[in-house]
Amino acid sequence: MYRLRVESQFDAAHKLVGYKGKCSRVHGHTWKVEVFVVGEKLDDIGILVDFETLKEKLEKITERLDHSFLNDLKEIGNPTSENISRYVFQNLKGLPKIVKLEKVRVWESPRSWCEYFE
Ligand SMILES: [Zn+2]
Repeated sequence: MYRLRVESQFDAAHKLVGYKGKCSRVHGHTWKVEVFVVGEKLDDIGILVDFETLKEKLEKITERLDHSFLNDLKEIGNPTSENISRYVFQNLKGLPKIVKLEKVRVWESPRSWCEYFE
């Protein structure tokens, strides 16, 4: 099996609804987003999937989130790292059939991340 990973990042503000603590106030993060795909069959030049294809698909999503107030994006729900990672995963449809989307990892800070996978 092969595993490929691409990353992107975005800056955005959010507040956690229903949270008891300072994260209930509006604040911002630079979120790093990693996407992992796996597969076992390479094409005839030895590529699983073009890194550029993956990056373009991921950046379409992160550009939508960049410099936004995440609470305005109703599809995400309460903008926790958990919900953001699921949102990215579920919007990464249309990947080449030869690969399986393994997981999306969202870093809220250099020491905290959440992964979503199905
Ligand atoms: Zn936060």
